[in-house]
Amino acid sequence: MTQSNLISSIFRKEVLAMSAYKVADATGLIKLDAMENPYSWPEDIKKSWLETLKNCPLNRYPDPEARQLTATIKRLNQIPDRFDVLLGNGSDEIIQLLLMALPANACVLAPDPGFVMYKQLSLCLGLSYYGIPLLADSFELDLPAMLDAMEKHQPSVIFLAYPNNPTGNLFSKASIREIIKTAKGLVVIDEAYAPFADASFIDSLGQYDNLLVMRTVSKLGLAGLRLGYIAGLPGIIEQLHKIRLPYNINSLTQISADFALSHKALFDQQTQKICAERSLVFNKLNTLNGITAYLSAANFILFKTPENRANEIFASIKKQGVLIKNLSPQGGLLADCLRVTIGTPEENAAFLTALTKSLVTS
Ligand code: PMP
Repeated sequence: MTQSNLISSIFRKEVLAMSAYKVADATGLIKLDAMENPYSWPEDIKKSWLETLKNCPLNRYPDPEARQLTATIKRLNQIPDRFDVLLGNGSDEIIQLLLMALPANACVLAPDPGFVMYKQLSLCLGLSYYGIPLLADSFELDLPAMLDAMEKHQPSVIFLAYPNNPTGNLFSKASIREIIKTAKGLVVIDEAYAPFADASFIDSLGQYDNLLVMRTVSKLGLAGLRLGYIAGLPGIIEQLHKIRLPYNINSLTQISADFALSHKALFDQQTQKICAERSLVFNKLNTLNGITAYLSAANFILFKTPENRANEIFASIKKQGVLIKNLSPQGGLLADCLRVTIGTPEENAAFLTALTKSLVTS
């Protein structure tokens, strides 16, 4: 048997058809491609964090329920006691867990463009996935199209990122409520960018049995820890606990996240700086000839470049030492679009200089 016959006889066709999620190599570049917080911690905080790590028993398995961290997360996010929370190795893992718990013929629905993992993980698990186009100019939900698709496909899960990635906008709250009310399945409000948005559905948890709210510490400034969480009715969260691996949150993450989240003021300060820079970058982008930047409630900005020039502009910016994200190859509403994460003032200035030069020279 040839190697390729062996492989195709073993793996599911959905897996064979996929390509791996590629992360660009940022070595030596200013990294503005992945919505990370650019700031680290002051030395004194780093020192006391290292002190807490000293007592971490690495010879023992972690607390399988991460009880202390879960309690901290519930308190800080004001999640009422009657709702349960499940922690994941990043919110990516939670999306995967939720989809793994669905029947084989289940269907998943999300707006398009949206966060790529909803589709990637659905297809890999052999589920049906429908991406419903957002409205072209505003990137707002096309409510009638969403409701039609819900009626037609009866999705088990609908994902709504709030704010949306990669467009950065907050969908209309009224439209989201209509979707939650009409849905016969679960609706996950993915609040990955909540720290920058000042808007949330956590307060609405009590109003809808089918609502789940998911968050992550990644964009806040703790992407390296890999920690996400989802809140909802205990009966629903219990199903996810059944299929998660027993020790999915490692000891170092449990201790470090609990420590970090107790320094909320530091993250609030960093978040404010990022939001202030977001306005500056947005205004500057819109002064550049041929560039249209879209308003963002997240820590990144999507912008449109002159027609058919996104690839060359992206490459030119990279050549000048700044890595952003080229979304143009995805086509559709993202044709000609690039996305930049908000960094430090110096990083943003380097990006804007590189972009300005790329527009002149290319
Ligand atoms: N949801 C959205 C909308 C995202 O943009 C991302 C990261 N890009 C995630 C979830 C995953 O975050 P993480 O796995 O780092 O928690």
